[in-house]
Amino acid sequence: MLSEEAKKKYLEDHGVRCPYCGSDNIDAQDADFLDDMMYQKVECLNCQKEWTDHYKLVDIGESEEDDPQLPESICQDGSIAK
Ligand SMILES: [Zn+2]
Repeated sequence: MLSEEAKKKYLEDHGVRCPYCGSDNIDAQDADFLDDMMYQKVECLNCQKEWTDHYKLVDIGESEEDDPQLPESICQDGSIAK
């Protein structure tokens, strides 16, 4: 059973280390989605423990593909052709 302290540490490290043994040799498995939550199973390859990361949808960003391209009239030196 994980202590609250171990959980807190895990979250502070953004889930990069096993909360049981501290190894960074962890492997994320399948994710399940439920409403605005995502649950991802994680396995430690060092101590073989498993746990579940809980993610919540907090924000969205527009796709970078929609960024406007630089106008072709910009010269190589960065000045804009008139
Ligand atoms: Zn471990």
